[in-house]
Amino acid sequence: MADPQGAAAPERAPGAPGAQGAPVDDPVAATLAELGPAVLDRLNNDFEDSMLLVGRVLGGRPEALSATVTGVDRRGVDVTVTDPAGDHLARIDFVEEVGDVAQLTASLLGLVTRAREVSREEGTTSAEREMAELAGIRTFLAQVVAVADLHPHLRQVTFAGGDLATFAPRGPDTFLYLLLPPPGRDTLTIDQGFTWEQHAQMPEAERPVGGYYTVRRWRPDVGELDVLMVVHGNEGQASAWAQRARPGDTVALWGPRTAYHPPPGCDRLLLVADETGLPAVAAILEQRPPGLPARVLAEVASEAERQALPGAPEVEVTWLHRDGAEAGTTTLLVDAARALPPLGGRPYVWGGGESRAMTAVRRHVRDDRGLGRDAVSLVAYWRHGGGHE
Ligand SMILES: Cc1cc2nc3c(=O)[nH]c(=O)nc-3n(C[C@H](O)[C@H](O)[C@H](O)COP(=O)(O)OP(=O)(O)OC[C@H]3O[C@@H](n4cnc5c(N)ncnc54)[C@H](O)[C@@H]3O)c2cc1C
Repeated sequence: MADPQGAAAPERAPGAPGAQGAPVDDPVAATLAELGPAVLDRLNNDFEDSMLLVGRVLGGRPEALSATVTGVDRRGVDVTVTDPAGDHLARIDFVEEVGDVAQLTASLLGLVTRAREVSREEGTTSAEREMAELAGIRTFLAQVVAVADLHPHLRQVTFAGGDLATFAPRGPDTFLYLLLPPPGRDTLTIDQGFTWEQHAQMPEAERPVGGYYTVRRWRPDVGELDVLMVVHGNEGQASAWAQRARPGDTVALWGPRTAYHPPPGCDRLLLVADETGLPAVAAILEQRPPGLPARVLAEVASEAERQALPGAPEVEVTWLHRDGAEAGTTTLLVDAARALPPLGGRPYVWGGGESRAMTAVRRHVRDDRGLGRDAVSLVAYWRHGGGHE
């Protein structure tokens, strides 16, 4: 994980291969080429509303319906802006040419800030929310104070001490990046001054490992925070650490962040998760406005591995069991979503789970059920076959 810049795929930085064939000895162009089309996807999918603002305002197309970034280089972006008259190509330059990749991310986000200023419109798009969130992030130092096995593949780990008493969650799905000692070490190699730029420059053997984990419970009176960690073997460093965690172990927690943003007027929830997203589902159910109906689709290995979810008459949970199939290889969640009757009203669909499963559910609710972007937050929590989310 190099650069946690987004909730949907926190490790990816905005940026993309230069459309205009930048020279190969240009380090920014080389990095852009390496980051590949995934980065254009991030701009066009995760920041779709922000790119529309940029295309509409800075691209000079006030009637714009959509804007697709087709290229990025050190001087600016190429955008195809679509309005009722058709497609228009626009070149939007950065305020100044960028010198390095970190500056490129800032320049891309700067386009959104500039578009907002020029438009003088109220509101916030996804990139603006993310900028505000990143500005409030810190690194907390804490210790493990308790460990409990909820079942053989789920451990509850409780953190406290250090400066954790000053932590404050941001929303029901609040998550933090759990930073752990490098493999083979038992002491942390970072402190509260930690940054992802520092991480990128550290020698491999010194780099902390870890992953994002959801705050299942926060007890401000005693400054204790519980996370529920799926134990899926020793291949993953975070899972391996969870298996051997014991009171006294020191960790760092980078955050807090959130991806749960129900639109105003939302009158029902559809929550879709595998075991990694269920801690957030439980917290969302606990913290939702009283009486807000919720439909939950919950995938776990077997009946024995269900997680406790707060019950209420207006909450309906469908448990889906993999029954021997490997996690991340089934279509249980999207099949169950397809089988639901029309959602009605003004739903908000939130989900956390394996990347392909979340993509399949996103396609279904957006394309087949016609839900708008604001009504859907399906977050890739992990990727079957490797690679961090
Ligand atoms: C916003 C957010 C919140 C999250 N909250 C939680 C949470 O509360 N609890 C939780 O357990 N996880 C949570 N996750 C998921 C967790 O961060 C990932 O599962 C992470 O990849 C685990 O890191 P690792 O070092 O164990 O494995 P990695 O190094 O990432 O992967 C090693 C191997 O393990 C596989 N793998 C990774 N995760 C799983 C899994 N869950 N089951 C089976 N195989 C897996 C990978 O496919 C890969 O082959 C969250 C993720 C995000 C983005």
